[in-house]
Amino acid sequence: MTDSARHAPSRGTPTRVVVIGGGLAGVAATTVLAERGVEVTLLEAERFLGGRAGAWSDRLADGTSFHMERGFHAFFRQYYGLRALIRRVDPELSLLAPMDDYPLLGPDGRKESFTNLPRRAPFNVLEIVRRTPTLKMRDLPHVSGLHAAAMMAFDPERTYARWDRVTAKEYLDLLRFPAEARQMLFDVFAHSFFNPEEEYSAAELLAMFHFYFLGNPEGLVFDVMKRPFSVLFEKLEAYLREHGAEIRIGTPAERLMATPNGFRVQTPGTTLEASHVVLALSVPALKELCRVSGDALDPILRARIDALGVTLPFAVWRLFLDRKVAPERAPFAGTTGLGILDNISVFEKLEDESRGWSERTGGSIVELHAYAVDPTWDEERIKEDLLRGMHAAYPETKDARIVEDRFLVRRDCPAFRPGDQSVRPTVETTKRNLYLAGDFVKLPFASALMERAVTTGFMAANRIVVGLGAKPVDIRSVPARGLLAGAPGI
Ligand SMILES: Cc1cc2nc3c(=O)[nH]c(=O)nc-3n(C[C@H](O)[C@H](O)[C@H](O)COP(=O)(O)OP(=O)(O)OC[C@H]3O[C@@H](n4cnc5c(N)ncnc54)[C@H](O)[C@@H]3O)c2cc1C
Repeated sequence: MTDSARHAPSRGTPTRVVVIGGGLAGVAATTVLAERGVEVTLLEAERFLGGRAGAWSDRLADGTSFHMERGFHAFFRQYYGLRALIRRVDPELSLLAPMDDYPLLGPDGRKESFTNLPRRAPFNVLEIVRRTPTLKMRDLPHVSGLHAAAMMAFDPERTYARWDRVTAKEYLDLLRFPAEARQMLFDVFAHSFFNPEEEYSAAELLAMFHFYFLGNPEGLVFDVMKRPFSVLFEKLEAYLREHGAEIRIGTPAERLMATPNGFRVQTPGTTLEASHVVLALSVPALKELCRVSGDALDPILRARIDALGVTLPFAVWRLFLDRKVAPERAPFAGTTGLGILDNISVFEKLEDESRGWSERTGGSIVELHAYAVDPTWDEERIKEDLLRGMHAAYPETKDARIVEDRFLVRRDCPAFRPGDQSVRPTVETTKRNLYLAGDFVKLPFASALMERAVTTGFMAANRIVVGLGAKPVDIRSVPARGLLAGAPGI
């Protein structure tokens, strides 16, 4: 008996689920539903699955085809849900390759390395403090131990109650780290979540310290995708179709309507009836669908969706250079103090398609990222600043000619502003049989980004399959609380 047959809901139930949005959250939800034998249709507006982690075909001037994405993504080892999803189509995780080092580059050649750190707190913290040239013994008495301890005291209730109305900047100021140490150790980390420190919840930042570092038993290490992201999503699409899911790409949901038996979803040319709906959209797309759908959603849910914010834009600039970067350059490096540049990747060291191009042409494919970009900056200004950052980090690129480039600026990553947590919507909504999934959805434990998308997708599907008497998938994350959680005074 196959897994899906074993878990299939009883025959004759009129359950028909429409999942709206084919990013990681929507794909994860559809996977569990299809595996349990539920009739499910996945609607995706774009011509490809994957959303912000997806890839699309492009062609260089010389006719070579390649895949373009929103760029570099780190697949952390504690992304248990994402790894379980990938294992469905790649049991050995052969699409992923470990990233051994992940240096952090600062101005004037400053460098930190996170190689071979102990996995567990507090040994990892002690080792970073020991290693970093930015922190001297004489600085330590000035650092606020009490506030620093909050990083090791994450608790899903208490941390938000104490810190959600404070900004990440205010919290980092309270730590009183020397400016250079703060820049190298904290600013890059805070920026990785796309939100500017001044508008980012300190509680969310503390949750991120817990999830990625202090509460993470896997250590601060990650893998990268060896192939273009499209390879993963093509495999997942085939898997879903094999399991009976209907996938409609290039088909946006235009409107959601409530009916006595559930919902009606309008798409260009057709209308689908659904008993259950999973909305697995980015924040701007969700807000728009909510706006045009009028009273299909109840007023409480509408207000919560309306209150969701979108953070500042991010920029991705992929450069095809006529020569190689120096051989010692890391495949991926975080950067700080180099203008708006947040990280720099050398793509031929990451994935095979770029390696092929580099071997054929003798050039390098370098990708520059900037997060939380000032929205008043135009393309020219962003590019000038990124180029300066690249030249400072990798001086050999000053003489390189840009043979071709791809540039994109988007604004669709969720905001985590101070105070948002109390009104942030959860997977389960106030509207019966309507669920939310995505990297903005509130969870009762720490999670983020791709993993949050997959976990909320799994949880939305679990709610539906459990209602049908089928077995849910396991939901796993890092330990719920930090080592010092509940300690008095922290
Ligand atoms: C530059 C960049 C770098 C990143 N790096 C990392 C990283 O290193 N590690 C990490 O964990 N995460 C990273 N992320 C974040 C990660 O990409 C996201 O958290 C994750 O992909 C979000 O998935 P999602 O399913 O919640 O949303 P999305 O991927 O946004 O999916 C929503 C889907 O809905 C579709 N849609 C929109 N409107 C409609 C409609 N009306 N009808 C039907 N479909 C619709 C969209 O096309 C999209 O496919 C990065 C993101 C960016 C932008």
